Formats: sequence, C-alpha cells, structure tokens
Amino acid sequence: MNTCPKCQTALHQVDYQQLTLLQCETCSGFWFQEGQFRQVKSFGFSGLPGTPSSKNSEAEEQDETTQSREPDSLSCPECEIPLAPYIYAYSSGIQLHRCSKCAGIWAAYDDLIRIEHLLADYQESLEDAKSKIMPLMMKVKQQIQEEEQAREAEKRNNSFFHRVFRHKSGKNQSRPPLLEEVEANFPSDEKDAS
Ligand SMILES: [Zn+2]
Ligand SMILES: [Zn+2]
Repeated sequence: MNTCPKCQTALHQVDYQQLTLLQCETCSGFWFQEGQFRQVKSFGFSGLPGTPSSKNSEAEEQDETTQSREPDSLSCPECEIPLAPYIYAYSSGIQLHRCSKCAGIWAAYDDLIRIEHLLADYQESLEDAKSKIMPLMMKVKQQIQEEEQAREAEKRNNSFFHRVFRHKSGKNQSRPPLLEEVEANFPSDEKDAS
C-alpha cells in the first residue's frame, strides 16, 4: 500500500484524463508516477480534484522561512527512499519532490495550483508579447520591402545611365539614341549660350 509522504495515510486512486493518479485524501497531495506529471501538466492542473490547504495565502507569502524550515524527510511511496526536493522551473519558488530511483514526483495540491497560475501568467505574457511584436514585425517587413524596391529602382537608373553614357568616352564614337533624347530634354549650357 502506497502512503502519502507527508501524512503517512493511504493514497487512493484518482482517474484524470485517462490517467490513474495517486492522491492523499488528507492533504490532497499527488504522487505522479514517471511521466505522469508532464502528462497532467498538458491537461492542466486546475482540473485535478482537491482542497486547497487551510492556511491563508497571506501568511504563506509572509512566511517563506516557515516553508523552508519544514523538514524535507519525505520518502517515495513506492521505493521508500528519501525524495529529493527541487524547485519547479528553476526560479518559481515552488518546491516539488522527486524520487531518484523511480522518477516519480510528489507535489502538494497548493503547489500544483500555483504552477497552474504560473503557466497561465506565462501564456498571458507570451500572448501580450506577441501582440506587441506583430505590428513591429509588419513594420520591419514593410521597411525591408521598401528598401528592396528602392534598390531595384536605383539599379534600373544605373543601367539607364550606363546605356546613355557608355559610348561617350569609348573609342566607338557612335552616339546612342538615348543620349539624343536626354540632350533634347535637358539642353546643355552650350546650346543655351548660342
Ligand atoms: Zn497527505
Ligand atoms: Zn521511487
């Protein structure tokens, strides 16, 4: 019989999204067997049955020291070796416990809800960033297109001038017809003087 690492009472089976999880009836904590934590995370933790712990969130926030003073002598319900505490997502401050032997994860119900909020916040900030970056991306795209068009136009102009003046300095003295056209439209000073 698997028992809760915290309360030492029997864990009971809970069906969730075609998974069979183990939960403590006393503290609502969950024991996730290898891979289950990730699977449940993809469905969302908020749908899990459970009761938030009775301590009010204010006291919880004020008293981080009490939390860290809690003895970390939790044992794996399956292997009965001590679980290793670790912080979820490195900087979240949410502590989970993992078994080094069976890769199971023990999580308090409150912490799962906190993770759910964290993921929601993350998703929200991602959407926010996306909505801010999209108009910027469009602007940059437009700018690149405009620059490309300008470059194309410049290339066309260059080849035009090349065609006009190519023969002027060369050995071939024949005048290209385009030069006549240019001179007709832009009379030279010489012509003005006469
Ligand atoms: Zn318990
Ligand atoms: Zn284990």
